[in-house]
Amino acid sequence: MSKPRGRQFFANPGPTNIPDSVLHAQAHVTIDFNDPAFLEVYDRVVLGVKQVLKTQSEVFFYTASGHGAWEGALVNLFSQGDALLVIETGYFSEGWSHMAADLGLKPEKLTADWRLGVDLAVLEARLRADTGHALKGLCVVHNETATGMSLPVQDVRKILDRTGHPALLLVDTISSLGSFDFRMDEWGVDCAVGGSQKGLMLPTGMSFTGVSAKGMAAHATSTFPKHYLSWTQMIARRHRSFVGTVPTSYFYGMQESLRLLLEEEGLDNVFARHARLAEAVRRCVRHWSGNNGPQLFCQNADRFSDSVTAVLVPEGHDANTLRSIALGRFNVSLGGGLGALNGRVFRIGHLGDLNEPMILGTLSTVELAMQVAKMPHNPGGVAAAIAYLAEG
Ligand code: PLP
Repeated sequence: MSKPRGRQFFANPGPTNIPDSVLHAQAHVTIDFNDPAFLEVYDRVVLGVKQVLKTQSEVFFYTASGHGAWEGALVNLFSQGDALLVIETGYFSEGWSHMAADLGLKPEKLTADWRLGVDLAVLEARLRADTGHALKGLCVVHNETATGMSLPVQDVRKILDRTGHPALLLVDTISSLGSFDFRMDEWGVDCAVGGSQKGLMLPTGMSFTGVSAKGMAAHATSTFPKHYLSWTQMIARRHRSFVGTVPTSYFYGMQESLRLLLEEEGLDNVFARHARLAEAVRRCVRHWSGNNGPQLFCQNADRFSDSVTAVLVPEGHDANTLRSIALGRFNVSLGGGLGALNGRVFRIGHLGDLNEPMILGTLSTVELAMQVAKMPHNPGGVAAAIAYLAEG
């Protein structure tokens, strides 16, 4: 079959579409990372990232995808054998937990149904039971990209405060930051982990951690061997980050993406756009669910994600067949199901540089692919999305 013509509709939940102006900005000629002209850009970008994180704290950058920042957080805050509590959300909470175990930490999973999310009363009971404060850290994935569910970090903070538990609060904001609200300082987050390739609309390959004063104090006592990821190494440098060469191009790209987010559109408008497009997607999927069609994977309406929707296909049907049709015949790239959800779920990313026609085009194509694949559904889901978007 010949390659489909036209621009690809990229509806993955990260990496995401990169605005043309960011692509152009990133294609900057090589510059010395100590050149005063670059340092001006660098310092501005660091301030901008702090604005997006809503923090006054220290931020450390890594030339690595999100996994690098996950590891940076763990090896800088803890020591081997430390116990952590990881709230189960899905594929990514499992991944962070496996990493912690591989490093020699003792992660304990606070189990939760992937479709309903954690019961916060269970979290509170677990923290109260830890009278000796053996748990040194609580790891939370703000937005589980695999299931399309968010977790109310502010409520987790309240529980830590209410129980008087001193565990450090680590939050993975990789698929929430720049898409919906996150407030590092107000929510008392000790370590916020972020990445470049989602709401920040940049290529994959740079990640960062915001670290509170309490986090820095914990770092001072951490005995994990580390060098490239060491915050102590980083803070001693002019850039207060990067052990080694600074990836200058990213900073030119990020200067532009931060301008788009913070100045041109404004963060609150960015969040409102994401909320609106997310709701349009959910209305469409709910409509499709008639006639034993596909369903929203997330069944907790209080925790719907505004950056990604996971769609559970009917029993006996393969989500990857649908994705292959969408990609091969119609040039629409959808996210796949991760881990145990492979083949059972496809994911529509609605974060980053995205507007109504892109979402409607994607939804129409999913409906078209469902017809081609003979997957049961209630036709006309796109009309439900249009009706919602037309309201205002
Ligand atoms: N955490 C979340 C919530 C993610 O969505 C991802 C990637 O999609 C990661 C962590 C891992 O980040 P990376 O793939 O950039 O290493």
